[in-house]
Amino acid sequence: MSRRESRRLLPQELAAAAAAYQAAVVIPHCAECSKPCCRLDPLVLELDWKQLKTIWLIEESRPAFDRKLSSGKGPEDIRAAGGLYFAHGKPCPAYDQAGHSCRVYGQEIKPVGCSDFPVYEDGSSVVADLRCEAVNLDALIAWMADAVGPEFRIVHSANEEFPFLITLSVRRVAGAAAVSKRPGKRK
Ligand code: SF4
Ligand code: SF4
Repeated sequence: MSRRESRRLLPQELAAAAAAYQAAVVIPHCAECSKPCCRLDPLVLELDWKQLKTIWLIEESRPAFDRKLSSGKGPEDIRAAGGLYFAHGKPCPAYDQAGHSCRVYGQEIKPVGCSDFPVYEDGSSVVADLRCEAVNLDALIAWMADAVGPEFRIVHSANEEFPFLITLSVRRVAGAAAVSKRPGKRK
């Protein structure tokens, strides 16, 4: 496999590695999490109208809801901007606080930000949100290194404005030969 071909595989491998980390490390911790992200404090949830209407059980039309919101009579935990809605400060209505679970889990209506949090692929990098207590940066770096193989090393940097957001990037090790796809992934 050429170097160019192997590079094209990296985003897919990173996405798979991030998803595997979520499944193996993050999700098992959710039931015992001391600061569940679904309480939306401090996190902000981005939604389109369909998601907001379904999850917040809004019965009125969108124009009517928007009018209420802009006049200050809408739900205080919802803000509108750029055609989207942002929920913050109160638990998501789909969050089952007793069961520590999501009532729309596995459904198409679930916002993509929920599935991505706290570790997700972003182009040729992986972003980790350290506000999730299940994420251990050193362990995640080791996980990613194992996923991409010895031809690459993982470098990381914190977002200047939001230092809890860490970008993990993949760099080819100097002199490494073109890599073939690794056999199998960590479970
Ligand atoms: S913050 Fe992390 S561990 Fe806690 S509920 Fe959210 S994803 Fe799960
Ligand atoms: S939709 Fe589900 S995963 Fe997303 S914030 Fe609400 S309860 Fe949590």
